[in-house]
Amino acid sequence: MACSAVVNLQLSKMMRTAWDAVRRALASVVEALIGAVAAPSVTWNRMTAGTDEPAVPLSVNYHFTRQCNYSCGFCFHTAKTSFVLPLDVAKRGLTMLAEAGMKKLNFSGGEPFIRDGGRFMGELIKYCKTELSWADISISIVSNGSLIQEKWMKQYGEHVDILAVSCDSFNADTNRTIGRRQGARTDHVAKLYKVREWCGQHKIAFKINTVVNTYNVNEMFAEHIERLRPVRWKVFQCLLLEGENAGEGALRDAARFYVTDEQFDGFLRRHAGVRMLVPENNDAMRDSYLILDEYMRFLNCRNGKKEPSASLLDVGVKDALRGSGFDEQAFLERGGVYMWSKQQLSNAELEW
Ligand code: SF4
Repeated sequence: MACSAVVNLQLSKMMRTAWDAVRRALASVVEALIGAVAAPSVTWNRMTAGTDEPAVPLSVNYHFTRQCNYSCGFCFHTAKTSFVLPLDVAKRGLTMLAEAGMKKLNFSGGEPFIRDGGRFMGELIKYCKTELSWADISISIVSNGSLIQEKWMKQYGEHVDILAVSCDSFNADTNRTIGRRQGARTDHVAKLYKVREWCGQHKIAFKINTVVNTYNVNEMFAEHIERLRPVRWKVFQCLLLEGENAGEGALRDAARFYVTDEQFDGFLRRHAGVRMLVPENNDAMRDSYLILDEYMRFLNCRNGKKEPSASLLDVGVKDALRGSGFDEQAFLERGGVYMWSKQQLSNAELEW
């Protein structure tokens, strides 16, 4: 890893200690605000602060596969295994999460459409919306978009609330440099527009995720974003995680992609007029996501790397959560609860 990136990582750790204190002080104010603006159908379950009671797994990110057809140089959930649970076991785990209070399930990867052309994920989505309908779970997906087929949208689209497609540039050369491609002929941007069209037809809220890095930090996105009209444009700062894209045992070295807080803020300032922009820097990201891996273990990122808990399939959701490192206050502060169901978005008269 380049020296500057190591120094930035260490500085970031020191800053986090101070930031944690500020977070706690702000927590009560934020919770009051959340109470006022949270989506109406979400019953908010407060963590019992100061006790050992784990948080309710309200919003879970299920990375059921680490396999991907792209090779982004900064990827921080890399193909370290090819393991995927059998479908019936994955359904059992999702039932346990629903019983524990899960209200939003986000499928991610790797690339979630890589398994059986999306059928594995499609069947899990259908299961959540039919067999677990009592739990009223909203479904979202984060995909690179390249493997999504119209047939899949016709078969499963009605069950999907939000579909996010990753896009780090509207310039083909930049996408090639980043590794956001499969083979020479990939046209990532054309596929992004196609998926946007399908989302409109199937009444799926469309979202775009962008990772700001060395190669796109000076690019302008506004025109395309306004044209694509995502409900949210989530803009992340490139994150270094030991064992994934930095340091020992990593499959990537993302040091050359890293941007400083100042560079990231500069990108945000230049896009401040884009109303769908939802920024997320490294501090906001870390610990504020419940990440479930391919074995249904929560991944604890507190030490700057992903350390797995026991699998919830073996010890139950509550005990697995104790090893998750999840910071519920940080989740609230980054706006983790928002309008995430089709129903709420329809009521808000979303123009699909
Ligand atoms: S598309 Fe996503 S999962 Fe695949 S290599 Fe890129 S960042 Fe990683």
